[in-house]
Amino acid sequence: MDIQAEIQALRGKLELWSHQYYDLDAPTVSDYEYDMALRELERLEGEHPELITPDSPTQRVGGQPLSQFHEVRHEVPLQSLQDLFEPGELTDFLRKVEEQSEQHRWVMEPKVDGLSVALEYLDGVFVRGATRGDGQVGEDVTENLRTVRSIPLQLKNAPHRLIVRGECYMSRAVFQKLNARREEAGEPLMANPRNAAAGSLRQLDPKIAARRRLDCIIFQALLIEGRDFPTDSETLDWLETLGFSVIDHPVCETEEEISRRIAALGEDRERYPFDIDGAVVKLDDLAQRELLGSTAKFPRWAAAWKYPPEQKETVLRDIVVQVGRTGVLTPKAVVDPVRLAGTTVTNATLHNQDFITEKDIRIGDTVLLQKAGEIIPQVVSVRKDRRPEGTEPYHLPAVCPVCGAPVRRDEDGAAFRCTGAECPAQLVRNITHFASREAMDIEGLGPAVVQQLVNVGLLSSPADLYDLDENQVAQLDGMGQKSAHNLSLALEKSKGQGMARLLTAFGIRQVGSKAAQTLSRSFPTLDALMAATAEELTAVEDIGGITAQSLTEWFAAPQSQHLIRRLREAGISFDSKEQPVGSALSGKTFVLTGTLTSYTRAQAKQLLEAQGAKVADSVSKKTSYVVAGENAGSKLTRANELGIPVLSDDELTELLRKG
Ligand code: AMP
Repeated sequence: MDIQAEIQALRGKLELWSHQYYDLDAPTVSDYEYDMALRELERLEGEHPELITPDSPTQRVGGQPLSQFHEVRHEVPLQSLQDLFEPGELTDFLRKVEEQSEQHRWVMEPKVDGLSVALEYLDGVFVRGATRGDGQVGEDVTENLRTVRSIPLQLKNAPHRLIVRGECYMSRAVFQKLNARREEAGEPLMANPRNAAAGSLRQLDPKIAARRRLDCIIFQALLIEGRDFPTDSETLDWLETLGFSVIDHPVCETEEEISRRIAALGEDRERYPFDIDGAVVKLDDLAQRELLGSTAKFPRWAAAWKYPPEQKETVLRDIVVQVGRTGVLTPKAVVDPVRLAGTTVTNATLHNQDFITEKDIRIGDTVLLQKAGEIIPQVVSVRKDRRPEGTEPYHLPAVCPVCGAPVRRDEDGAAFRCTGAECPAQLVRNITHFASREAMDIEGLGPAVVQQLVNVGLLSSPADLYDLDENQVAQLDGMGQKSAHNLSLALEKSKGQGMARLLTAFGIRQVGSKAAQTLSRSFPTLDALMAATAEELTAVEDIGGITAQSLTEWFAAPQSQHLIRRLREAGISFDSKEQPVGSALSGKTFVLTGTLTSYTRAQAKQLLEAQGAKVADSVSKKTSYVVAGENAGSKLTRANELGIPVLSDDELTELLRKG
């Protein structure tokens, strides 16, 4: 195959795959396969730059990050629209225009709730894209717009110069996925598709913008060189033939038709993949538009009918609490079904406890719901005058509704989180974290494999990893005998990672790898750490009261104890590998003998270990101190023989205090 044909074939394949991925939501190849083909195309194009075309998939991946956006002065200003809220206002507007115009045909378009952009083409090639800004001067966001798949990079049969105006938006489907991903990663959620689109379009790194999958729909030609159309509707039809995605633009003639269309659009909002905040009425005849002209702010020949966000009352029957993959408890209202902005609504977000408390939302209340930009309706207010007898203020449960572990409020936010070590809702995330590089570092155990293992029922706790059967693992998609064997080896190796990594792997709030290392320098084993009191924990440098509390609570939970027991049985090392520092006792070896009066043997051992000392059974030259209680026997004799210092109970207490 010659190079040109090879490049063509690769482009065809990549375009098909991205259509399947982005438009049909039905990928037929893995991301990896896509990336490899793209890289191959980049390589070929790199060797033959003369064969690069502006519509090649390589041109959409997003160029270098910018340090700032440049200003663009719009050749044709991007005007705003006058708003209409009342039927009377619509009547007045139509009458005024029709009095001055010979043509009485109107284009009706949905008003897309996104961001206005101007796209410029030279000889059919997309050369510049800018935001609206103040209408006169906007920002050059060409690189980001290049990544938008519904913006053609090359037009068919285009005039020499063309500038079109459209609305950039994030579809509701993409928005939902984006937020689901953010929720999973514990990142703050985007308020609505419009904000998400605005944020994405103003990303300085086009690669991030590319991942956000924006769309763009065209509603106006601002400048066409060498072509004249009598009407807007014909212009839009023609733009469609060039390859643009063009807004719906039926033509209406009477006020009655216009009103019907406005009502229908309002009812039909859900039919569109984007949010609509109005209906735009524009005179179709372009020559008449010229004659009418504009005010300082908006054209006289167009107006936007604004839909108020629809609100409906319904009864809140229940509050259900969901546990997300990061353990956050999210309360959701279950309401009596009600039609709202085109869909039947049965539940509403309640955000968090603060939201519920502030509005004093109770089960049994009549509430007012609204969808404003957001897809899921919100509770706007409570009809306290209709509150039934016997309702009570609502509080999130103190234990996780999924696993029963204690729930804790984040120190730095409104979220309440389940602390369960084996909580099924957080399982995939917890196990993936357990295996991650900074934790137990189990190679080959990424989220996809963990998800599969959970799905087939082989994992319900991190401890199950150590019971995995190699043959069963080999059956998984994309695994095979060799990978399964490698995973076994990696698991075996992880058993010896030691206390700091194990502690990190538990994912206890406030205890990341740094705190885990600090702790494992102060406590020789996990058991010593578990036995430590809050005072002993806070005595460690950099460990504050909140961390100490988080640790003690976590260790006290039955789920945690169960996990620790199983890990111990699996032969996981609980010993610190870190060099003890700080304590005068760290690294010293003690032998206890006789009956101590101030402590039991076990207590003395724990206290010593908590300060980094070791406790041995027999006296040798390596012994640092022997602690002798009443009726000390042969160990004391041996200590004296070897000249090892002998301490009384009191001296030990003193040493521990100083240490
Ligand atoms: P406003 O922001 O309320 O002044 O309304 C004007 C804005 O509506 C314009 O800047 C466009 O971004 C936007 N818009 C969305 N859809 C359309 C449409 N079909 N025709 C004109 N403007 C639209």
